[in-house]
Amino acid sequence: MTAQEPTRPLRVAVVGGGPGGLATGIALSALPNVEVTIFEQATQLREIGAGVTIGLNGWRVLGLLGAADGIKGHRRIIVDHRDGLTGTLVGATASSFPPWYHPRRVRRMQLQSALLDRIPPGVIQLSKRLTALENRESGRVRLIFEDGATATADLVVGADGIRSVVRENIFPDHKTTFTGTTVWRTLIPWKSMDRFPELNHKTTWFHSPVGFVMTTPVDDPKEVDKDTDGLFEVSIRKWVDPKRLEVEKFRWGVDAVNEKVLSNFKEYGPLVQEVLSHVPEGVWKEYSTFAGPRLEKLTGWNKVVLLGDASHPLSGAFGSGAAFAMEDGWILARAIEHTHLNGNPTADSIAKALEIFDSIRSSYYLRMYDYIDLQERKVDGAKRNASAAGISEWEAQLRVTVNGMIGDGLPWIYLNDIGNVWKKYLKGEAGDSVVSPSFDR
Ligand SMILES: Cc1cc2nc3c(=O)[nH]c(=O)nc-3n(C[C@H](O)[C@H](O)[C@H](O)COP(=O)(O)OP(=O)(O)OC[C@H]3O[C@@H](n4cnc5c(N)ncnc54)[C@H](O)[C@@H]3O)c2cc1C
Repeated sequence: MTAQEPTRPLRVAVVGGGPGGLATGIALSALPNVEVTIFEQATQLREIGAGVTIGLNGWRVLGLLGAADGIKGHRRIIVDHRDGLTGTLVGATASSFPPWYHPRRVRRMQLQSALLDRIPPGVIQLSKRLTALENRESGRVRLIFEDGATATADLVVGADGIRSVVRENIFPDHKTTFTGTTVWRTLIPWKSMDRFPELNHKTTWFHSPVGFVMTTPVDDPKEVDKDTDGLFEVSIRKWVDPKRLEVEKFRWGVDAVNEKVLSNFKEYGPLVQEVLSHVPEGVWKEYSTFAGPRLEKLTGWNKVVLLGDASHPLSGAFGSGAAFAMEDGWILARAIEHTHLNGNPTADSIAKALEIFDSIRSSYYLRMYDYIDLQERKVDGAKRNASAAGISEWEAQLRVTVNGMIGDGLPWIYLNDIGNVWKKYLKGEAGDSVVSPSFDR
């Protein structure tokens, strides 16, 4: 840049105002000479779904975004694992982290509000449903919205979730299909769980051969009056071979009646049956999970990037997708800061930023996919060897599943320190960025 050239800002269009889009908006708004707009299809920002788990990886990125303090929720100090068919306790984990870093199950709305509070005024445009992108000769991208409006940007961030229109535009051959897994979730009054003293104060997983029932508080009794305002989550999922089902359309957060929900969980033991029968009519929401082939690359046209669920539809595997999406947004901002260097944006600097983002995050997601594949092979192997071990195939599967969830705790996921990931990138170092929690807060 010569001294005469006025500096022009880098114009970034973020599509989607979920955890990934909001985190990107916060991190980019803090950079000089970057103009960011979030285009969200909803008429108002309200998070659907019940609770969300925030582990140490999530707390760390929320801390970097300045959004951790407003979030409370249930401290998941003890987590029980039960055989859902019999109700028998088969394992338990206890968090040994310092109190601030305990994993928490929180109302999704609280996470949304904490992120929204950090977004500067004027950044979000609501009722803007993206329908298409055009790769313009000018080097920019044109965004076309359902209401006929258009916008242009130097860089487009696809944070538009599992059914991403941005992804469809840069990878038109990539198709998502129904996985066979349907999820139902609800929040009920915490007080209504008083009749289940073995469940009402902790997180419990009831596993079955084709899914689970998870019950957990989502509030901190120090913050909320448990008996009047406290909420408790019931989140359940079932897999049915998709070839046996016809799902005509994507169902996300639609109402489901109790009879239909309960009919899918008849094989569970009496404790689960009783819990489900106490969920009031009219509060279940149903979600059909979709997935597509794994993407080799998260960027296209050298100026479009996918993050969060748009880039890796993991259908809730690892229970940490919101943290992954926020980590993506924070790393993208670091890559832009590193290459943009407060000067005029150039095609090269944008392409370089995306290359850095892709090199850090693609390999991380690849490791998750490899882990999922390994778990599947372990379950298959354990089932094959079950009769020789004198146990049923289901018992063999249960052991692998519970060991996978208790095991070594997957530190490269749940203890991931995204700030350290970036420091290591700058030093050219490879390997894990696991940093154990300290009593520093
Ligand atoms: C059943 C289930 C359970 C889960 N449990 C957990 C959990 O316990 N912990 C956890 O961390 N994660 C969990 N996840 C994952 C988590 O919900 C997601 O990973 C996370 O919400 C992803 O954030 P995102 O911003 O990428 O996408 P989303 O949250 O999907 O947000 C996408 C946004 O884009 C908007 N949008 C979509 N299309 C358009 C368009 N064309 N134009 C404009 N806007 C658009 C949407 O309205 C939405 O606001 C779970 C997921 C599932 C399915």
